[in-house]
Amino acid sequence: MNNLEKKHIVILGGGFAGVACALELKKLLADNDEYEIVLIDKKAYQTYHAGLYEAATTEHGLVEAKKVKRAVTIPYTDIFGKTKIKVFKAYIDKINLPDGKIITDSRILSSDYLLIALGSVADFYGIPNLDKHGFTLKSLEDAVMIRNRVEDLVLHNDKVQIVVGGGGFAGAEFAGELHNLLQKECLHHNKKCENFKVMVVEGAPGFLPGLSDKVSKLVYNRLSGIGIETKFSTLITEAGKDYVVLNNTERVSCDLLVWTGGVRSCRLPLAINSILERDKKDRTPVTEFLNLKSFPNVFVAGDDACVLEAKTKKPLPQTAQEAIRQGKHAGRNIFRLIHGRQPLPYHPGPTRFVIPVSGKYAILYTPNLIISGFVGWAIRRLADMRYFLSILPFWKALSYWMFENKIFTKND
Ligand SMILES: Cc1cc2nc3c(=O)[nH]c(=O)nc-3n(C[C@H](O)[C@H](O)[C@H](O)COP(=O)(O)OP(=O)(O)OC[C@H]3O[C@@H](n4cnc5c(N)ncnc54)[C@H](O)[C@@H]3O)c2cc1C
Repeated sequence: MNNLEKKHIVILGGGFAGVACALELKKLLADNDEYEIVLIDKKAYQTYHAGLYEAATTEHGLVEAKKVKRAVTIPYTDIFGKTKIKVFKAYIDKINLPDGKIITDSRILSSDYLLIALGSVADFYGIPNLDKHGFTLKSLEDAVMIRNRVEDLVLHNDKVQIVVGGGGFAGAEFAGELHNLLQKECLHHNKKCENFKVMVVEGAPGFLPGLSDKVSKLVYNRLSGIGIETKFSTLITEAGKDYVVLNNTERVSCDLLVWTGGVRSCRLPLAINSILERDKKDRTPVTEFLNLKSFPNVFVAGDDACVLEAKTKKPLPQTAQEAIRQGKHAGRNIFRLIHGRQPLPYHPGPTRFVIPVSGKYAILYTPNLIISGFVGWAIRRLADMRYFLSILPFWKALSYWMFENKIFTKND
């Protein structure tokens, strides 16, 4: 069968959801020559977000940017190798749902089945000048810029105040490692460490809002123990070149502002804009099967999707774990539709988080068990290995994992 006669399953976005869907379909359609699977992403690699806080705190003098890149990105050529999945590097400009056309910056593609998994972007909540002065931590480029800026600050100043906006996972993880980076840079440039301060500003009354008071306290104890200042129940209400305003009243000096305070879904670039409803985080509501009510062949997964938990009717969290499960499930349901079967409803997996907080310390959280300390850190390393093994052949996964460990343990 030539390519023109083939039907097309197109996956938009090669993040956690997109890659999981592609690999599931590759397995399920191994003997099927009728379908071509195409994955489109603007980058040539998947970004391993869970490692970004480490990437942003690698010491400039010790780790070159290209090594940082190798530690937090996985090229699609390594993931899909010689499989029949076609990867197309392009920027997606528009999606035309009624006819399944995808308009990219270089080509128009047709799709018979579609997965939209374009992820999320930082949400600045309309706070004046936050987008202009705040650094975000969403990509490899962000991470490299942050660590370069930190080195620059230490090099040219005797006193520095860094503000981390948001005390969720990314904020807490980053603040802890940032402290270690500042210590090393100060030592290196012969500066007084006590003059280089980190402050975390969080709107909720504690770290990791919505998780558990015990975990929140553990994170607080760990971070305050290394001298990180915290301001809870406090909002950043304005950002400036060298300051932030808190709760509309207090002006605090700020040499670097890193914003991890929230994300909103990538606004789906639709050709016909009025078709889809969105929730307040710009996510697209999907059915229990993860597809769209009006376009059953179109699935949405990961940070882009608003998937309601059956009991609570609350949207599931935007996490990599959820994205992977949803991506896989969307793949299975596409396969079922192809074979004329009913799609199956999606059920979220167990809640499990491992939160590293400075050095070889992490907190494992499940609703019934909390483990903190070195054991938590070791579990986190194993979780990374588990992910690499799920998308790469064994030896490649091992080599990524060992390289990541080699680079990031330099931070501790
Ligand atoms: C710093 C940080 C740390 C995190 N740590 C954790 C953690 O420890 N555990 C956890 O479970 N979750 C973590 N998360 C959340 C997790 O990374 C996201 O929930 C997850 O990445 C969502 O997966 P996704 O597939 O929906 O989107 P993504 O993984 O973001 O993938 C989206 C893809 O779409 C591509 N794309 C977007 N727009 C376009 C376009 N117009 N054209 C072409 N391509 C496009 C992007 O290049 C990207 O590859 C973290 C997030 C951050 C930012």
